[in-house]
Amino acid sequence: MPPIRSYHSVVLVKQVPDTRNVTGEVMTADGTMNRSALAAIFNPEDLNALEMALNFKERYGGRVTVLSMGPLQAANVLREALYRGADQVILLSDRKFAGADTQATSYTLKCAVEKLGQFDLVFCGRQAIDGDTAQVGPQVAEKLHIPQITYAESIVELDESGIVVQRAFDLGSELVKCTLPCLLTVVGSANQPRPASARKQIMYKLAALPAEYDKLLEKWPEFGTTETLEAYLAERNLKIQMWSAADLNVDEAQLGLGGSPTQVYKINYVVLETTDSQEVPATPEGIQALVHELIQEYIVG
Ligand SMILES: Cc1cc2nc3c(=O)[nH]c(=O)nc-3n(C[C@H](O)[C@H](O)[C@H](O)COP(=O)(O)OP(=O)(O)OC[C@H]3O[C@@H](n4cnc5c(N)ncnc54)[C@H](O)[C@@H]3O)c2cc1C
Repeated sequence: MPPIRSYHSVVLVKQVPDTRNVTGEVMTADGTMNRSALAAIFNPEDLNALEMALNFKERYGGRVTVLSMGPLQAANVLREALYRGADQVILLSDRKFAGADTQATSYTLKCAVEKLGQFDLVFCGRQAIDGDTAQVGPQVAEKLHIPQITYAESIVELDESGIVVQRAFDLGSELVKCTLPCLLTVVGSANQPRPASARKQIMYKLAALPAEYDKLLEKWPEFGTTETLEAYLAERNLKIQMWSAADLNVDEAQLGLGGSPTQVYKINYVVLETTDSQEVPATPEGIQALVHELIQEYIVG
């Protein structure tokens, strides 16, 4: 029997450029990237992490808090999290956080998790599709001094002594037992993230950061002044909280660029351009010939 108490799950999510769709239009002639040509999306494996946390809440009760560190636009992934079932979302945003490498990012996230007080589980995606390091989750666990289970696919069981997690590895999977609190990094094969709920989209339509109030007032002038709008949102729990460095118990020397021991030395851009194309007839023979060619060319095997 799982112990009866109110579990607090924290999910760390990152807004990323959709690097799965980098086309020639995104790469400019001088080799830099036109970021505005890429949609900003919820990091895919963070949706799996959120789904696992929501599923845990449905099975064992409790609440889910979602944290993201990023610019003001990252509020969009937090709204997405509310539409999918998160109870509370918080944006960590401050110029002092900018230019952070994984060390400074995980330090800031760790300080924010500590500020939340009691927590039982921290869920991260395995990896972000832009930075791609897969370091942040493990570093947060180290800094919080809690155990971690990476490559988590499912929470199999919860009892008095902790959780049993199925974790994926190349040749199969294994079951790992761990005491709480702990941190899980979740892989894409873990689950099928639920879509945003239409009811919650209506419920959280006005959820906004204080920095977004002017935009809301432009769209809905009937709310009157910033003060009346703020009171309206506060009453309905629609204020998205934003924490800056001053809100956290941090050593500022460990934040942002100044707290980042790694520096990007050089970046090589690779632009893949189509040079040739081949039409494959949609027949068993056509597909067989294609598979044969892919094996011959060592593309699959
Ligand atoms: C050497 C180096 C130098 C860098 N310099 C800069 C720089 O100057 N400026 C700059 O903007 N970026 C810089 N970056 C990128 C920056 O470090 C990463 O964007 C950030 O630290 C997260 O790392 P990642 O994307 O590899 O995440 P991963 O470690 O792949 O992410 C794993 C998981 O951690 C969580 N997570 C990661 N980031 C966040 C976040 N921001 N909020 C909430 N959860 C999160 C998510 O759950 C995610 O799935 C640098 C990276 C490196 C490696």
